Amino acid sequence: SQPLLAVNDLRKHFLLGGGLLGRGARSLKAVDGVSFTLEKGETLSLVGESGCGKSTVARSLMRLFPPTSGQVVLGGQRIDDLSAGALRPLRRRIQMVFQDPFSSLNPRMRVRDILAEPIRNFGLARNRADLDGRLAALMERVGLPREALSRFPHEFSGGQRQRIGIARALAAEPDLIICDEAVSALDVSVKAQIVNLLQDLQRELDLALLFISHDLAIVEHMTHRVAVMYLGKIVEIGPRRAIFLAPKHPYTQALLSAVPVPEPDAGRTRIVLRGDVPSPINPPSGCRFHTRCPHAFARCRTEEPQLDKVGGDHFAACHLDGAAMPAQAA
Ligand code: SF4
Ligand code: MG
Repeated sequence: SQPLLAVNDLRKHFLLGGGLLGRGARSLKAVDGVSFTLEKGETLSLVGESGCGKSTVARSLMRLFPPTSGQVVLGGQRIDDLSAGALRPLRRRIQMVFQDPFSSLNPRMRVRDILAEPIRNFGLARNRADLDGRLAALMERVGLPREALSRFPHEFSGGQRQRIGIARALAAEPDLIICDEAVSALDVSVKAQIVNLLQDLQRELDLALLFISHDLAIVEHMTHRVAVMYLGKIVEIGPRRAIFLAPKHPYTQALLSAVPVPEPDAGRTRIVLRGDVPSPINPPSGCRFHTRCPHAFARCRTEEPQLDKVGGDHFAACHLDGAAMPAQAA
């Protein structure tokens, strides 16, 4: 059966100034050949340091801007090349929850109107009574009292505001919700509540979640699969257990080594990478990670590794083909 979402060789390059028509013009390769699929009811987490292209993937899927190349197929239908008009009925199916519920909710609108907007835009309510019923059901789903419909966003805490953001996404009856750092700004205890809410909703509604986060400790508890991005590319993708227990790419190994574990003796010695993430305007040749990789060898500077199978449904882009062990962890 076909996946709910298939992303195939997606690229998003932003042209920068500096020279007219080609000569001297440079581009920022924010997303540079990303492919993955997402099934109904599945959570895929997109992880990596800030600037790796995670949010640009999300924005390309939402068609907040058109991709430079590649295909996005939703329920068997290509959506990357649709006109705005043809895209309209499909827009409903992918909704987004943003990092900052403070700025993503219109402060001048009551919660009722914030939630009614997508219902009206997509023509989902049959009549006034149906609309009211939908609003009440949304509030109940996200654990807010019905009375809160008549209040304004500033009257709520950060966690409650994020519940409103989730309710707004649900109002459109989506198949897929993209959460872009949706819990990153929240306190630890609130984070866990929102993650639990998302998981409950996923099970009840068979929702797919694309969970974009730099916080691997959160991801470890709630995802089905993980895709690790570095400089615009996926360097490793696989099931949660494989990624967290047996990461194959040296970058994934380094990222995971920084995640706190309950028992400090249980492995995971911190791997400190040298240098900063290079610029996506002029990424390193060969393997883009070679300037920071503790295992780099000559071939890494000239030849780009492909995503190869290193286990069941587990792929890594490294010339060591899964043989890289977290070396410093001695
Ligand atoms: Fe490191 Fe080379 Fe593997 Fe890249 S291909 S991750 S530089 S060992
Ligand atoms: Mg981001």
